[in-house]
Amino acid sequence: MKQLLAVIGHPIHHSLSPAMHGAAIEALGLDAAYLAFDVAPEALGDAVRGLRAIGAIGFNVTLPHKETIVAHLDAIDDAARAIGAVNTVVREGARVVGTNTDARGLVRSLEEAGVALAGTRVVIAGAGGAARAAAYGIAQAGARSITIAARRPSQAEAIARDLGGVIDACALDAPRLLEGCDLLVQASSATLHADAGRELAGALPLATMPRGAAVIDLVYRPRVTAVLAAAESHGLRTVDGLGMLVHQGALALERWTGREAPVAIMRAALERALAAR
Ligand code: NDP
Repeated sequence: MKQLLAVIGHPIHHSLSPAMHGAAIEALGLDAAYLAFDVAPEALGDAVRGLRAIGAIGFNVTLPHKETIVAHLDAIDDAARAIGAVNTVVREGARVVGTNTDARGLVRSLEEAGVALAGTRVVIAGAGGAARAAAYGIAQAGARSITIAARRPSQAEAIARDLGGVIDACALDAPRLLEGCDLLVQASSATLHADAGRELAGALPLATMPRGAAVIDLVYRPRVTAVLAAAESHGLRTVDGLGMLVHQGALALERWTGREAPVAIMRAALERALAAR
């Protein structure tokens, strides 16, 4: 019997996940389908009960359900609890369990790009959900220090307080923000927009980062954001946000199927889907 995988969100038409997972399912020869469902907030409980009843082997969760889904699941794991959001649900026997693959997906994409994390000093710009996942994943990977820098420092302080450990917080315009910083993670949504991206790129003191330091921008549309372009012009190593998207999907697929995900095929499918928009 064909197995069902899905993504639920509202709206959902923009999701690239069906293209990425569809290509993986085909490459692995799985008898499965990955479908996108638009689920309004008031229908979330019914949708989860429905997916459970028809035996879906797992599903992704996107905005606006990443936090509210928790009330409809049997359990969530440590990553989802620490990040405060679920992006992947896995069926385990009769139970549906929430996890979050964003943090590990980011770490895998940095590893793939040759960016080491153990013992490093990391600055994260932005203090939303992506910054929280980044801080959790990079702390787990053994960074020496992580500073979350936000235009509203109270937001960054809340993440630092919740996650604890090596994480602290400051204002985005703090003096000497990037001195001695091995890795800058651009995790704000500023670079989605040309003007805000240029403004942020101009405000970040990239020239003060050490030789050999790296910059990743989690925003993947555009692929080369204003911050990545500025980092390149300063001779810094750059990594775009597509790898995180690929690897969070690959980790989910591996949890659902127990098979190694065809990462290169998933990346190529995403690139095609992005180019078509
Ligand atoms: P949120 O809306 O939760 O948070 C956005 C953050 O960016 C907030 O801290 C916000 O600050 C800050 N911000 C927005 N505009 C500016 C600006 N002009 N200057 C400085 N800070 C700004 O979004 P997410 O954290 O969920 O996502 C952030 C970005 O990361 C998204 O654009 C998304 O595309 C990308 N992303 C990529 C993923 C991947 O797989 N590659 C996964 C998840 C996200 P304030 O609260 O003050 O507005």
